[in-house]
Amino acid sequence: MTSIDTADLKRMFDEIAVAIEADKDRLCQLDGLIGDADHGIAMGLGFGAVRDALASLDLAATEPTALLNTAAKSFLNAVGASSGPLYATAFMRGAAAVKGKATLASADVIALFQAMAQGIQDRGKAEIGEKTMVDAWLPAAEAAAVAHASGKTLSESLAAGLEAAERGAEATKDMIAAKGRSSRLGERSLGHMDPGAASAVTVIGAMRKSLG
Ligand code: ADP
Ligand code: MG
Repeated sequence: MTSIDTADLKRMFDEIAVAIEADKDRLCQLDGLIGDADHGIAMGLGFGAVRDALASLDLAATEPTALLNTAAKSFLNAVGASSGPLYATAFMRGAAAVKGKATLASADVIALFQAMAQGIQDRGKAEIGEKTMVDAWLPAAEAAAVAHASGKTLSESLAAGLEAAERGAEATKDMIAAKGRSSRLGERSLGHMDPGAASAVTVIGAMRKSLG
């Protein structure tokens, strides 16, 4: 029986920070092709700030909701780019989804994952096919939920989510950007992977590795 506590969630954020740091240059290069080349820096600053903020929490006295709200606040304060409010909303919605729980069962982790994806969509108002991180996050959350509902373990469900995120990010190469900075490029955005979708795969991959 899966039981994820606050310390596990802190380790998950540490894992994400390491993965994003390792991916920073590629994310900046992708953003350089259709944006302003700062996406890796923005994500690195955000998850670095989250790691630092969580390091000073008393984990034994902190519930998952409070940890996720701390993550939201520190990410938002550290990131001036569009990804700041998008991920901050993801963590805030995730916090609300697990409110009152001291530990998370598999179904709670799936609910957290879905709330994060929905939060990103609600905050940025992007639909599938508009070449944003939503093209990775939404199918990932959906696939994880479907896998879990069909009786798969948390690990298998998150793996299904990661595969869907990878397919979604790959699919952004054939999309014309309709939201955010790269929408100004119109058809010139074709042929390149959306940086936010690329980093979503990295984030979800670290979540799977850490929680699965
Ligand atoms: P900025 O565009 O302000 O420099 P970043 O470089 O950090 O911000 O992030 C760019 C990414 O943000 C894009 O690749 C896209 O995935 C995502 N993005 C931008 N606008 C939206 C939106 N309205 N909804 C969802 N994602 C968005
Ligand atoms: Mg940018």
